[in-house]
Amino acid sequence: MTGLDILPEERKQKLDSLFEGFSVIAEDTYVYLCDMKYDVSRWSKMLVDTYGLPSEYMKAAGDIWEEHIHPEDRETYHKGIDDIFSGRAQGHDMQYRAQKENGEYDVCTCRGIVLKDENGVPEYFGGAIRNHGEQSHIDTLTGLRNQYGFFEDLKNRINKKYPARLWVIGIERLTEINEVYGYHTGNKMLQHFGRYLMDHVGNRGGTYRLDGSKFAVITETLGSDNISSAYEDIRSHFREGIVFENVPIMLELNSSFLALEDFNTDDQTIYSCLDFAYDESRFNRHGDITEFHNDLNNDAKQRTEKLHLIRNSISHGYSGFYLLYQPIFGVKDEKVKGAEALLRWSLDDQGMVPPDEFIPLLEKDPLFPRLGEWILRMALKESEKALLLNRDFVINVNISYSQLEKADFTDMVFNIIRETGFPPENLCLEITERCRLLDMDLLKNTVVALKAGGVKIALDDFGTGYSSMGLVKNLPFDTIKVDRGFVKDIEEDEKDKMLVKSFTEMAGTFGARVCVEGVETAGIRDILKEYNVHSFQGYYYSRPVRMEKILEDLG
Ligand code: C2E
Ligand code: CA
Ligand code: CA
Repeated sequence: MTGLDILPEERKQKLDSLFEGFSVIAEDTYVYLCDMKYDVSRWSKMLVDTYGLPSEYMKAAGDIWEEHIHPEDRETYHKGIDDIFSGRAQGHDMQYRAQKENGEYDVCTCRGIVLKDENGVPEYFGGAIRNHGEQSHIDTLTGLRNQYGFFEDLKNRINKKYPARLWVIGIERLTEINEVYGYHTGNKMLQHFGRYLMDHVGNRGGTYRLDGSKFAVITETLGSDNISSAYEDIRSHFREGIVFENVPIMLELNSSFLALEDFNTDDQTIYSCLDFAYDESRFNRHGDITEFHNDLNNDAKQRTEKLHLIRNSISHGYSGFYLLYQPIFGVKDEKVKGAEALLRWSLDDQGMVPPDEFIPLLEKDPLFPRLGEWILRMALKESEKALLLNRDFVINVNISYSQLEKADFTDMVFNIIRETGFPPENLCLEITERCRLLDMDLLKNTVVALKAGGVKIALDDFGTGYSSMGLVKNLPFDTIKVDRGFVKDIEEDEKDKMLVKSFTEMAGTFGARVCVEGVETAGIRDILKEYNVHSFQGYYYSRPVRMEKILEDLG
């Protein structure tokens, strides 16, 4: 069974010395090496003991190991090994469950490569098996590694500088499926999906279930084109519908991927980028697969590095962050009525990074709400003096939809108001159209609670999204800010002019005051003065400046 009787002595020596070589590269994993000419292998002693294998040396070790693999994973495993021995594959990178001596299953990832002899004939197949055993890294429903496992593997890759592609696929409207067909069916469907994904990826990467409806793949072998076409296959399979207990369920999917090739970063930044591209796929591309900034090529690398630095700033006392304020002027008297706080970040030689280059990417980062609190607290503190000069001064603070989503958002706002002693009526929170992604009831409750406490609410970037009208109809905004994209050409463009006119009128019918952004010239101002507009904001009046400058103008 060991095969040592058929293995010539010099081949045994070669096997042993190569094996030692392999062992050096991976101290935290089990190592295996197979002499493909004789199909005799040597496996780590640790692995042999843990799984109760017959001995360190084994003839046809692949078959022996297969006995230990979970029945559901066996076919994929078998095919992977077949591909190696038949020469169809040069390497392998797969995930399966393996049964230990005590009968329990561990999830293992197994990576290996084929070494050829001088004639190009496969000679050795060797690699490492990593045991991810701990239960907490496993999703109990699908048996896949879960988000902890995903982040652990991602961190490892970053530390060791192993390039890979990260790929996320999510199922649309899972909640609805659960509600309509019941959790039991929903769970069955998720299991099926995980299974299908794992089979489809085969021996070309590890598969994960991240959270509710999102799955991920980390792969070294799949290129961009392979990922895109694999996704299309998976997508059309699930679009056709799968039948569970006689009910056909059709699934719509969304997907994104990115190339991990820059290692001056951290796992969370990488995930934020991947998740950003995922939202892009979901909300703007009807589920078409979206690569993170594939149009920017090298730029994407710099971006993740910068994001990493910005993210680090959040956990290091917010160094590099500061606020500028852009004054908002009354239409009639052209006096300062308030200002909008705008975030800036710059550190050492990095130069100033404009907020729309990092906020949309970090919005869903677990650290982001902390930054949001810092912004609010800072804006209120810095605006105190403005209140002394003008009791009606209103400070506008931008709020990301990911902040609003948090259950303790209103508490956070009121705590900071209490702590700073700032009058709530002088604070206006700007929420954007992206809030339409949130649950409408939740949003309504939050807005109503904030307003009940005296805080004002503005809808930012009005006109840029599809459901602006839906939002203004449902939520009692104090102010509607017409996006600057609509006004920049009104001096020449009659159509834009009519559009802005009707926007401002519509906003008025909902009882909100209207602020127009992007007033860059006196010409634009003159046109807007004829419409239902209450305040102006734009470069014509002032660029964003330090609070000191605003105090000078007020005083
Ligand atoms: P926004 O809320 O629409 O902010 C107005 C943006 O328009 C600012 O860019 C401002 O500098 C720019 N702007 C003002 N007047 C003019 C003008 O006359 N012409 C032109 N072309 N632009 C003008 P900024 O500061 O780069 O901010 C970009 C976006 O980043 C903001 O758009 C907002 O969505 C986000 N942001 C900025 N600060 C914060 C923050 O503290 N929290 C959150 N959540 N988002 C922020
Ligand atoms: Ca704003
Ligand atoms: Ca805006």
